[in-house]
Amino acid sequence: MRHVIIGSGVAGIAAIEAIRSIHPSLSGSGDDGEVEIVLVGDDPHGFYSRPGLAYFLTGELHGKALFPRSPEDYQQMNFRFVRGCINSIQREAHSLQFENKTNLSYDKLLIAVGAQALPLEVPGANLEGVLKLDHMEDAKHILNHARRGKTAVVIGGGITALELVEGLRSRGMKVHYLLRGDRYWSNVLDEHESMIVEQRLKEEDVTLQHHAEAIEVMGKNGHANGVRLLNGQTLKCDLVAYAIGIRPRVELAKQAGLAIDKGILVNEYLQTNDSDIYAAGDVAQAYDPMTGRSVIDSLWCPARQQGSVAGLNMAGKRLAYIKSTPFNVTRLAGLTTTIIGTVGRGRDEDLVGIARGDSETWRELPDSIAAQSGFDVNHLRLLVGEKKILGAIVMGDQKLSLPLEKIISESMDISPIRERLLAPNAKVGDVVTEFWESWNSRN
Ligand SMILES: Cc1cc2nc3c(=O)[nH]c(=O)nc-3n(C[C@H](O)[C@H](O)[C@H](O)COP(=O)(O)OP(=O)(O)OC[C@H]3O[C@@H](n4cnc5c(N)ncnc54)[C@H](O)[C@@H]3O)c2cc1C
Repeated sequence: MRHVIIGSGVAGIAAIEAIRSIHPSLSGSGDDGEVEIVLVGDDPHGFYSRPGLAYFLTGELHGKALFPRSPEDYQQMNFRFVRGCINSIQREAHSLQFENKTNLSYDKLLIAVGAQALPLEVPGANLEGVLKLDHMEDAKHILNHARRGKTAVVIGGGITALELVEGLRSRGMKVHYLLRGDRYWSNVLDEHESMIVEQRLKEEDVTLQHHAEAIEVMGKNGHANGVRLLNGQTLKCDLVAYAIGIRPRVELAKQAGLAIDKGILVNEYLQTNDSDIYAAGDVAQAYDPMTGRSVIDSLWCPARQQGSVAGLNMAGKRLAYIKSTPFNVTRLAGLTTTIIGTVGRGRDEDLVGIARGDSETWRELPDSIAAQSGFDVNHLRLLVGEKKILGAIVMGDQKLSLPLEKIISESMDISPIRERLLAPNAKVGDVVTEFWESWNSRN
């Protein structure tokens, strides 16, 4: 039995660990009824923390810190790694074709190829020095350009755009940050939260422009050297970095005739419409039996959970992936920010579709009332429904983020504190702390 996994990201690695938890193998050869695992990946750096790339850009993380598994871990997982890019899947023959035209057969296949940055579609976007942040090579490329240049223009929204701003700023570049809309990440943050982030960027000497639509990247000798805006203004620069959203890599699935929508459509067992082919992670649009809908996430933890469930099912189990409450701890303009559950709605002019470190679920806000307290660096916003808290944003002090994750994911009945939470000038944090402490003492 040969399991093939395409993609050496967190979903692919979690799948291998899950398969091996059921079929430990001594040789991994596939002989004598053993289960053979082949991992195919085109990233020369193998498996590393993609969220960690932001800290690699700022210089806070490097070397081993970005690589969550050791050579000994890989040895124990006992799989064969084939470096290469898969071009096509022949479903009838149960065979994969590499870019170099060699073939590899599979019995069960997992597609865990992730998502990629949407391209910037303005004239000049293909000039050298117009950069995105998908993977380690991109990050190195950005650093090389940052070393040689003085001024950068960053275009886009969401977490990755800010990571680019901060990475370039911390490398000593002057940064112009262009927003098409009137505030940062408007469909996840509220006005006050956007203002907190923007104020901090200004304090870091980032030049922030609203309603700034880049219409052309200008260049000289094949290199970007400026950006022209719709209002006629031009900004001179040495590099342009952009993060305007991502797109699941569905091309392989499309070529193979698998069902796709925004991502590869999979049932709750992470199985595509071909029962021998599974999909997990950023590329998958997973059916959520709790809501009856299929959604995409671009988050590390769901990718790992999906990879794990897919691996167990490939190995013969029948386990449903139950989507947990989306939870992301990130840093926005130097401020630790946790986003839990459903916190916003609508669309953001600076992003097309979903961003990295993002979940569609964050924007499915039903009727709820916001309760908030705190100023600037310690800010807490709760989205309060009839009986439960639907979502929360915790900025700065993080002591309530884990309790809130539990309160929200377990749909705890907050009726006893609802009125106090919604009272004018409520000390929301104190009310939640009291509720949490009393729940803890009872359980
Ligand atoms: C800059 C950045 C910041 C992020 N910040 C956060 C954050 O704050 N919080 C959070 O939760 N998540 C964050 N994410 C998202 C998170 O990293 C992803 O959700 C997660 O890595 C998805 O894992 P995956 O295994 O599905 O895909 P990936 O990690 O993308 O791995 C897919 C792999 O498949 C390979 N591949 C693609 N096509 C082929 C092919 N045809 N043949 C062979 N190999 C192929 C790719 O090269 C890649 O190595 C961030 C991501 C980035 C890039």
